[in-house]
Amino acid sequence: MPSQWVGCATENFRQGRHGHEPKAIVIHIIVGSLEAADLTFKDARSSVSAHYGVGKTGRIHQYVEEVDTAFHAGIVVRPTWKLIDPQVNPNYYTIGIEHEGQPQDLWPDEQYAASAALVKEIAARWKIPLDRDHVIMHREIRASKTCPGAADIDRLLRQAAA
Ligand SMILES: [Zn+2]
Repeated sequence: MPSQWVGCATENFRQGRHGHEPKAIVIHIIVGSLEAADLTFKDARSSVSAHYGVGKTGRIHQYVEEVDTAFHAGIVVRPTWKLIDPQVNPNYYTIGIEHEGQPQDLWPDEQYAASAALVKEIAARWKIPLDRDHVIMHREIRASKTCPGAADIDRLLRQAAA
């Protein structure tokens, strides 16, 4: 399914990546609908954004270009991600994908399929390995969050690699 460009408030992202390139993909849960994410990212007071959002039916919204910096994983709390660079804001070297739903939701097959296809495309574009060191959960950067909830990252990776 092609992605639909939605965009976000200019206050909620930064042009360019401060000299960095994407080297990992961060998986998030919206805690709400795809439309709720659209509104939050268009709200200049929110100071948050992501590159993409994937709906339960497989719709994909794009908010920020991959060459630009989205504000989705900039707060680091007791990180468990082994490739984290403590000197650099993770937003500069990651691509963020939000997912429609609540943390406890089991994702529908359509959502896994669309997200896996998107992950595969991004990984090919930026030569990002399709493994658990490079496709990570938000809580691996920010342990104070449960994000992305019940998402099965291993399944996502298996489908992206298929
Ligand atoms: Zn998150």
